[in-house]
Amino acid sequence: MSGMPTMVIPAPAILGMLGGGQLGRYFVMAAHELGYQVWVLDPDADSPAGRIADRHLCADYSDEAALAELARGCAAVTTEFENVPAETLAILAESVPVRPSAAAVSVCQDRIAEKTFLKVHGLPHGPFVEIASLEDLRNAPSYIFPGILKAARLGYDGKGQAVVDDRAAAENAWVSLGSVRCILEAKLPLDYEISVVLARGQDGAVRAFPSAENRHRNGILDVSIVPAWGSVCLADTACEVAEKLAGCLNYVGTLGVEFFVSRGQLVVNEMAPRPHNSGHYTLDACGTNQFQQQVRALCGLPLGDAHAHSSAVMINLLGDLWFENNQEREPDWNTLLAIPGLCLHLYGKQSPRIGRKMGHFTIIGADSKQVYEHALKARTILGMTDA
Ligand code: ADP
Ligand code: MG
Repeated sequence: MSGMPTMVIPAPAILGMLGGGQLGRYFVMAAHELGYQVWVLDPDADSPAGRIADRHLCADYSDEAALAELARGCAAVTTEFENVPAETLAILAESVPVRPSAAAVSVCQDRIAEKTFLKVHGLPHGPFVEIASLEDLRNAPSYIFPGILKAARLGYDGKGQAVVDDRAAAENAWVSLGSVRCILEAKLPLDYEISVVLARGQDGAVRAFPSAENRHRNGILDVSIVPAWGSVCLADTACEVAEKLAGCLNYVGTLGVEFFVSRGQLVVNEMAPRPHNSGHYTLDACGTNQFQQQVRALCGLPLGDAHAHSSAVMINLLGDLWFENNQEREPDWNTLLAIPGLCLHLYGKQSPRIGRKMGHFTIIGADSKQVYEHALKARTILGMTDA
């Protein structure tokens, strides 16, 4: 416990949300459920959260007039994505509570700051070096290869990174990435990947949702399975590490922590200072979902019960599904919705694009094997390849 006094913000206060994507949209819904109003700041005139918010400030994240308006009108501000400029959060924090703090977000928005943070706090992480020049690459230790070179900032869904087998490949990749500040990580042999989504309140209370096993396709999350199929002991340890990490960040809000299990060892991959795609199952399988926890933490309300009442499999629906032989089509929702325990979520995005997250579905049920079988059936109906 941090011992900080809790500042309670009662409904119907106005809450500010930086970002108007699907994560922001679910935050708006959760806030509305609890009687709050939400103002969303997003430069996109037609953002999923902006469409349902009480007010959409359609402006850039560095627009001073919009930030002043947000700070004036809102009782507290939070974020739905990690790439909000740290400067924006700092400006807002001068006149309105911002949670998570600019300091916590800035650790999560820079891969070097993030890995250095893990190292400093003795949290499990893989080998890495900072690359700011070709000289740094030439001096990188040989044991780091084969590696993954990642732009330190602004990457997501596998973008801004390249697998590099050796030093020469790394030099080429660094130039292709725009010669920007990068992190070079050793490419770890992955047994599987898991994540922990948790919420931490102003008083330091933590509630972690059950961990998910995550499978990616083309760098984008494809499937989350809950409870994670791997070792229960590792899943428990992952929760403990995530909790410790949140404490070290003095974090307030919902936090996603991605882990690798590599040769039986747990390694933190990265953190997201917001709800996480792998936590979408909480919308249907938990008493309190990750977005309601975000609202509760922001407003100083007690956190809800994070236990899952069902097994769950979540599948992301990318824009690819809206195309067949280069023709746009509507996926077969009718057949899909007949599957027992299937909960369909679409984000209201106007134009499907390849790789764009359009929605997801979660299948819940008592028996995890049966839930998984239903998920495979659902994929077949939609023409998706096997999980
Ligand atoms: P993003 O921000 O795009 O999610 P990540 O760092 O999580 O970036 O990388 C995306 C995926 O690439 C990971 O989920 C994992 O499958 C793979 N990956 C990333 N880093 C490593 C690594 N050091 N070793 C092995 N696989 C990795
Ligand atoms: Mg990731």
